[in-house]
Amino acid sequence: MADYKAPLRDMRFVLNEVFDAPKLWQTMPALAEVVDAETAEAILEEAGKITANSIAPLNRSGDEEGCRWVDGAVTTPAGYPEAYRLYAEGGWVGVGGDPAYSGMGMPKAISAQVEEMMNSASLAFGLYPMLTSGACLSLYAHASEELKQKYLPNMYAGVWSGSMCLTEPHAGTDLGIIRTKAEPQADGSYKVSGTKIFITGGEHDLTENIIHLVLAKLPDAPAGSRGISLFLVPKVMVNEDGSLGERNSLGCGSIEHKMGIQASATCVMNFDGATGWMVGEPNKGLAAMFTMMNYERLGVGIQGLATGERSYQSAIEYARERIQSRAPTGPVAQDKAADPIIVHPDVRRMLLTMKALNEGGRAFSSYVALQLDIAKFSDDAEARQRAEALVALLTPVAKAFLTDMGLETTVHGQQVFGGHGFIREWGQEQLVRDCRITQIYEGTNGIQALDLLGRKVVGSGGELYRAFAEEVRSYCAAAGGELEEFTTPLKAALENLDALTAFAIDSAKRNPNEIGAASVEYLHVFGYTAYAYMWARMAEAALGKETQDDFYASKLGTARFYFARLLPRIHSLSASVRAGSDSLYLLEASQF
Ligand SMILES: Cc1cc2nc3c(=O)[nH]c(=O)nc-3n(C[C@H](O)[C@H](O)[C@H](O)COP(=O)(O)OP(=O)(O)OC[C@H]3O[C@@H](n4cnc5c(N)ncnc54)[C@H](O)[C@@H]3O)c2cc1C
Repeated sequence: MADYKAPLRDMRFVLNEVFDAPKLWQTMPALAEVVDAETAEAILEEAGKITANSIAPLNRSGDEEGCRWVDGAVTTPAGYPEAYRLYAEGGWVGVGGDPAYSGMGMPKAISAQVEEMMNSASLAFGLYPMLTSGACLSLYAHASEELKQKYLPNMYAGVWSGSMCLTEPHAGTDLGIIRTKAEPQADGSYKVSGTKIFITGGEHDLTENIIHLVLAKLPDAPAGSRGISLFLVPKVMVNEDGSLGERNSLGCGSIEHKMGIQASATCVMNFDGATGWMVGEPNKGLAAMFTMMNYERLGVGIQGLATGERSYQSAIEYARERIQSRAPTGPVAQDKAADPIIVHPDVRRMLLTMKALNEGGRAFSSYVALQLDIAKFSDDAEARQRAEALVALLTPVAKAFLTDMGLETTVHGQQVFGGHGFIREWGQEQLVRDCRITQIYEGTNGIQALDLLGRKVVGSGGELYRAFAEEVRSYCAAAGGELEEFTTPLKAALENLDALTAFAIDSAKRNPNEIGAASVEYLHVFGYTAYAYMWARMAEAALGKETQDDFYASKLGTARFYFARLLPRIHSLSASVRAGSDSLYLLEASQF
C-alpha cells in the first residue's frame, strides 16, 4: 500500500478557489476572530503531518491485531494509546469545539478536512475522536452550564472520550421501542438501567474516563419516540473538584467480532443502575441527539470519501508500476516486456471513476460543511435560514451518497490490483471491509434515503428542494459561455431532478409505498446531480489555468470525464424511480 499523503492541494483548491471560504469566514464575527486563510493553511498542514506520520502507519497492524476484551477491560492495538495521546495533545479532538470550553473554535469546513485526513489514515482510529466530538456537540447544545463546565474541557482536550448509546438488541432503526430506563433520584440525578449494543468506543484503554450519552425512558414516558430522554453517564464518577472518583455501575459485557474497523471497539454496554444526569428536557432526547446528527452524518459521509481517497492513492501508484499486456494502440513502454496497466481503457475507467467521485465528494462535503458554518455563525437571519434548509436537505445525501460512492471507489481500487487486491498485505481489501460499515451505521443508507425523500422533500411540499434547485439554476444562468460544456448537462440534470421530485411528491399522495420504493434511487439521482454542480464549479475555478499547472489540467479532464461517463447514470436510476412500487409487491412474503 502506498504511504498516505494528505490531499492538501485539492483541499486548498476547494476551500480557497472554488468556495472562497476565507472571505466567507470574515463575514461571520465568531469565525473572523479565530480563522483566516493562513490559520487554515497551518492547521491543514499540521493535520496532514500527524495523520500521515503517526496514525496511518497503525492502520494495517491495527486491523491484524484488533481489540481484545478480557473481564470487562478492552485493549486497543499496539501503538493506539500513544497515537491517541499525541492526537489529543495537538488539540485535534476539540478542533471544532467552542473556545469558551477550551475548544479550538474552527469552522466545520476546516474540521471536515481534518476528519477526512484522520479517516484516510485509519477509519478505526478516527472513530474514537469522532464519537467524542459528536457527544460534545450534544452536550454543548443541550446540557446545563454545570455539566458543560464539568465535562466539555476534558473531552475537547481528549483526556476523556465520549460514546453514543442508542442501539439495543431489539431496537436499531426504531429507537421508539428502546427499553433502557432512567429512574429519577432525590438529588436530581437518575439511575440508568439497560443494555446497549454496538457501542463504538464504549470501553477502551485510550482515555482515563468515558462519557456515555445514553438514550433511556423515564418511568412515566409516553410510548414511542416522543418518550425518549438523553442522559450523561460517566464511566468513572467525577468529583466536585473535577478529580476522578468511583467507578459507575456500568460495564462492557463483550466486544463484537466484525467484518472491518477491527481496531475500533464495538461494545455491548450494561448499565446497572448507573448514575447519570439528564441532558436537555424530559422526553426530548431524540431531538437533542439530532443536533449532533447533522454534523455526525456528514462525518460518516466523509469516512466513505476518506477510504476512497486512500484506496485511490494506492491504486494510481500500482497502475503506473504494474506491467501487463500492451496498450490497444501499440506498445508504450518499448523497453519493457509489457506496458503499465494505466494504458488500458478499463483501468483508466476505474481510476477516473475513483478520482471523479473522490474529488466530487470532497467538494460536496466541504459545501455542506460551509452551510453548517453559515447556519451556526452567520449574523444574517435570512442567510442562516437558507443554510439550515440546505443542511436539512443535503445531510442525508452527504451521508448516504458519499458512503455508497466510497464503497464503489474502494472496490474499484481493489480491482485495479487484480488478484493482489484480494490479498491482505496490499491493504486494498481492508479499505473495502472498513468502508462497508459507513453505509450501515448512523442510520442505514436506506433510512437516509427515506429521510431525504419522505421527510425533507415530500414532507416540506418541495420547499427544501427548491432552496437547492434555485441555487443551481441561478448558477447556470449566471455562468459564462465558456462553461457551457458543463452547465448545459448540469441544467438538463436539474430539470430531470425537478421532474422526478414533482413525480415523487405526486405519487406519494396516491400510495404510501411509493416513497420507500423510490427513495434510494432518488437519492442517487440527487447525489449525481449535486456532484455535477460541484464539478461545474470546480471546472470554473480551473478553466484558463490549465497550462499553468498540471493540477488544473487534471481537474478539467476529470470534470469532462464526470459529465461524459458518470452523470448519465441518472437516466437508468430515474427510470427505476418512475417504475413505482407495483413490481415490489407482486410476491407474497411466502413466495420469496
Ligand atoms: C460497527 C458498528 C458500530 C456501531 N456504532 C454504534 C454506536 O456507537 N452507537 C449506537 O447507538 N449504535 C451503533 N451502531 C448501531 C447502528 O447504528 C445500527 O446497526 C443501525 O442503525 C441499524 O440498526 P439495526 O442494526 O438494528 O438494523 P434494523 O433497524 O433492524 O434494520 C434492518 C434492515 O431493515 C431496514 N429498515 C428498518 N426499518 C425500515 C423502514 N422503516 N423502512 C425501510 N427499511 C427499514 C434497514 O435499513 C436495514 O436494512 C453500530 C453498528 C455497528 C455494526
